[in-house]
Amino acid sequence: MRHFSVQLSPDRKPKPEVSTLRFGKSFTDHMFLMDYDPERLWHDGRIVPYGPLSLEPAAMVFHYAQEVFEGLKAYRRPDGAVQLFRPMDNALRLRDSCVRMGIPPLEPELMVEAVKALVEVEESWVPDAPGASLYLRPFIIAVDPALGVHASRTYLFVIIACPVGAYYPNGLAPVRIYVEDEDVRAVRGGTGYAKCGGNYAASIRAGERAQAVGYDQVLWLDGVERKYIEEVGSMNVMFRIGGRVVTPKLTGSVLPGVTRRSCIRLLEDWGVPVEERLLPARELFDAAQSGELTEAWGTGTAAVISPIGELAWMGERWTTPRGDIGPLARRLYDTLTGIQWGTLPDPYGWTVPCASASGML
Ligand SMILES: *Cc1c(COP(=O)(O)O)cnc(C)c1O
Repeated sequence: MRHFSVQLSPDRKPKPEVSTLRFGKSFTDHMFLMDYDPERLWHDGRIVPYGPLSLEPAAMVFHYAQEVFEGLKAYRRPDGAVQLFRPMDNALRLRDSCVRMGIPPLEPELMVEAVKALVEVEESWVPDAPGASLYLRPFIIAVDPALGVHASRTYLFVIIACPVGAYYPNGLAPVRIYVEDEDVRAVRGGTGYAKCGGNYAASIRAGERAQAVGYDQVLWLDGVERKYIEEVGSMNVMFRIGGRVVTPKLTGSVLPGVTRRSCIRLLEDWGVPVEERLLPARELFDAAQSGELTEAWGTGTAAVISPIGELAWMGERWTTPRGDIGPLARRLYDTLTGIQWGTLPDPYGWTVPCASASGML
């Protein structure tokens, strides 16, 4: 284990009541910081009181969005211990995102150790209410004060943490989705497979337009032919068509989700055939019309499984047969959350212990 210095905060915030938490709105007492420059490389990893960063207005991240991030959670097990879910997968993806964005990659082991170190200090912030967890947001920003368009020489790696309540306090509510045929989220050769803020900035308008007309989110089509399904909002997407599950393959414009990968593994172990391939919107809506499309859901760390209750595209419409979450999506949700919170055994070695019940401090 690497050594990071720890400067404890003299003030501790009161812990918010979990039922009142809104996603990503309240933050813990500390954060992790680490610097990069070409001479010392990544150095000076440290845990300090949570607070504002001081950056020059010319810092490159503000102008050219040279930035990457990750999202993962720490879960409180029934025995009081705290665990992470596949953190190395997040660390490897952060490295890939760095490479795409011209950022000197952080060693994956270093990211996992930094996350563990912060969770140990913030152990008391990991909620024990059902479905609640401590959401961790590692990110890297370019901080050179320079307006020339080239890679920054200096970077800051930060991890912040926020307690989050159950994503669905009232059960898994199906969402309403329409196919977006104007804006695209990402294109092949672009940054779709990297987890970077710019992808989100480009997707916000479509989500807001969808909400303005009574939908929750959009289903993205590929940016080249405007024909193939890619993702739903900022989640990967899966469809149960006939006896199989179809999910868009990772063409470069689709984000390789850890939840997606975990669902594919579970489905294969259950004997459900999974097809990772191009899926034309036309084929999807034909399957909707013929009755072969029986379930649709999004996958991602925040919600785990988000059942889709309605899909609309150019005057065509599909709704779930039962109006609530389908049996396969429900089984995935129950199994994944069971493994994540430690109420089910983990035969895959996906969970990683990271703080004892009493914590470090
Ligand atoms: C993070 C993200 C996902 C889901 O990835 P997980 O690792 O499962 O959380 C899917 N799509 C986009 C665009 C994302 O940014």
